[in-house]
Amino acid sequence: MKAADYVSREQKYLAKNYKSFPFVLNKAEGVWLWDTDGKKYLDFVAAYSATSFGHLNQRIKDALIAQLDRMDVQARAFRHDRLGEFAEAICKLTGLDMMLPMNTGAEGVETGIKAARRWGVDVKGIQDGKQHIIACKNNFHGRTTTIIGLSSDADYRRGFGPFDNGSTLINYGDPAALEKAITPNTCAFLVEPIQGEGGILVPPKGYLKEVQAICKKHKVLLILDEVQTGMGRTGKDFAFQHEIDRPDGLILGKALGGGIYPVSAFLGTKEVMSVFDPGSHGSTFGGNAVASALAVEAISILKEEKLSERSAEMGEYLLRKLQSFNSPVIKEVRGRGLLIGLETNPAKIGAPQFCEKLLEKGVLSKDTHGTVVRFSPPLTIQKQEIDWGVDRVAEVLREIA
Ligand code: PLP
Repeated sequence: MKAADYVSREQKYLAKNYKSFPFVLNKAEGVWLWDTDGKKYLDFVAAYSATSFGHLNQRIKDALIAQLDRMDVQARAFRHDRLGEFAEAICKLTGLDMMLPMNTGAEGVETGIKAARRWGVDVKGIQDGKQHIIACKNNFHGRTTTIIGLSSDADYRRGFGPFDNGSTLINYGDPAALEKAITPNTCAFLVEPIQGEGGILVPPKGYLKEVQAICKKHKVLLILDEVQTGMGRTGKDFAFQHEIDRPDGLILGKALGGGIYPVSAFLGTKEVMSVFDPGSHGSTFGGNAVASALAVEAISILKEEKLSERSAEMGEYLLRKLQSFNSPVIKEVRGRGLLIGLETNPAKIGAPQFCEKLLEKGVLSKDTHGTVVRFSPPLTIQKQEIDWGVDRVAEVLREIA
């Protein structure tokens, strides 16, 4: 079948909730992907940080097969031998006390919101129904109805209301705005340590430290969404570790499942997690034996192969190389670890068109919000692979300038 045939079948049978490129991928290995015409691409997206360990990582594959030789999915009414192991490993890695496993990032966020609201009632003494959550403008926490109720993006919200959810949106990176927005009914501040989908926006130094102090002062939970920034992406195991010991709640997803299976989790202090009792939350697939086995392996790979350190080193290398381009096409290059954004000069080219040009040259990248080209390759990427990708960026810059 030709690429056009795959595309036309999708267009007939698939809801159009994504605007995908017109080529069709059918093979993956490490940092490389191939399409049905045999064209090879360097993956500078890594499924938005999900395939951080490289495509079809051998250790993840082996862990999957070993688990499938033993046991698959069972009802959570019955205990299995892998879930406790997963919980212990992720709690020890993050420094938080307890976890609740889910599947997608959005479900992890939903879990955090439920935990915060019930904590607000049970611990802080807020009247049920009055719980107030503060989030940031330009955030991305997922696409469920509660979560898009916290979004400032009109495209995510149009036609999906009502969104009467007792929340306030404040400017990102502004601790004073947080303090101003807090009311006696505020139970949580939900925030990304770096806004990923929002355009790889790195907040001012000290931001997390300051917002943590404000949250503590007003008895408000600090809940960090590290679905994208977690598991080594920013050069530490978790982005919060650049500034603080631990938040009150932490949401993980994407790379937690090794890039081949959806695994997410909400983690919190004992006080926060104690609000859950039987029946209050759950998921059929959340924390099943396969998910648990993959997460355990993903955590081992992260530590044993020192991928956070690698992310810091390779990220610095890629950032410096991109920042060294003295091009009128570039407005700014910013980021942390291997989460890097190149903001284009809109007078020269938009980010989506920049990505299209890179694609023609065999580099997969994706814009965020039309203005920023995101570079987030697998953390396993080698220097010479970065060099190859950066040379393609240089060619695109030359052609446009
Ligand atoms: N939170 C953040 C920070 C994300 O970047 C994403 C996805 O990009 C999500 C939540 C939602 O994750 P999922 O798409 O797995 O629901």
